[in-house]
Amino acid sequence: MPAKKKSTIPPSISGALLRWYDANARDLPWRVGPKARKGGERPDPYAVWLSEIMLQQTTVATVAPRYAEFLARWPDVNAMAAAPLDDILGQWAGLGYYARARNLHKCAVVVAQDHDGVFPDNEEGLRALPGVGDYTAAAVAAIAFDRRAIVIDGNIERVVSRLYEIETPLPAAKAEIKERLEEIWPKKRSGDFAQALMDLGAGVCRPKAPMCLLCPVSENCAAQKEGTQEKYPVKAAKKAKPNRIGAVFALTNAKGEMLFERRPEKGLLGGMLGLPGTEWKEKLSGDVFDSAPAKAKWKKTGEATHTFTHFHLTLDVYAGAAPKGFRKSVDQQWIDPEAARVPTVMKKAVGAAKTND
Ligand code: SF4
Repeated sequence: MPAKKKSTIPPSISGALLRWYDANARDLPWRVGPKARKGGERPDPYAVWLSEIMLQQTTVATVAPRYAEFLARWPDVNAMAAAPLDDILGQWAGLGYYARARNLHKCAVVVAQDHDGVFPDNEEGLRALPGVGDYTAAAVAAIAFDRRAIVIDGNIERVVSRLYEIETPLPAAKAEIKERLEEIWPKKRSGDFAQALMDLGAGVCRPKAPMCLLCPVSENCAAQKEGTQEKYPVKAAKKAKPNRIGAVFALTNAKGEMLFERRPEKGLLGGMLGLPGTEWKEKLSGDVFDSAPAKAKWKKTGEATHTFTHFHLTLDVYAGAAPKGFRKSVDQQWIDPEAARVPTVMKKAVGAAKTND
């Protein structure tokens, strides 16, 4: 493991960051900005939790409009707990990482039923909730309750790795990043400090071409002094993702509706609607048409490709008309393909099926 450099950064750096945040905080729909906060406004823990779950693996630009829709439909945790899971999964369509949507509902039910609709106000209590890991517990504890919880997201990793020239590759570097943050994290305004670091990483300490001239902590930054900013954070070499293949079947009826079925609760895209089809494997065995929903005149109309966290997927897309007398099963539905709220990979498959209408 690379040797750890001695820290030369004084804790007073937190004051410089907070002052910078007071003048430069991003205006985000889920955020209570520093001015409003000084005026006594407090963030709604439900809104903070919802935004943090939505922002995992998803950009601010994508989340912002979708967050507004969620909040308008379910303005508090009790409203979300009372909603059918299917409504939440439908509203989530296209955002990916669907386990988040199922956990969102589970967590809302637990908060509503076991905590009288009030979120726990500390990291430990938050971490006990479904779908709330170390990061989310720390972020909600800091931002919603001003607890001194050390928050480490991708932006913060980058800023700290550069400030201290951390040579250990991520993800192993997380422990060292946390140690360094412990040294400078203030006792007061913990939530603002977390958001200051996030904003600095998003707007100034960018992955490429960081704007060090605008940075409030450049005097203390080891990477800036050495001109090595873009070397950090050091990342472990990624393993190549395997390729998987499969086939899906777009069956249409006389009204132009398409047959969708709900995927099993457990597993990838669990509980979401999709086109019927085969399993997704590196090699398919047997006849793919055994997985078709009906005996129809299937015609291959195209392919849908998608990259998941752990593999690349290529689906052969077949289209066909429902034969006379076809009866769908209980977990299948006829839906206008334009209106179907399905995950992105299935949207692509529907598009590939329709190109040859
Ligand atoms: Fe990032 Fe540059 Fe600031 Fe260092 S000086 S933290 S590299 S923006």
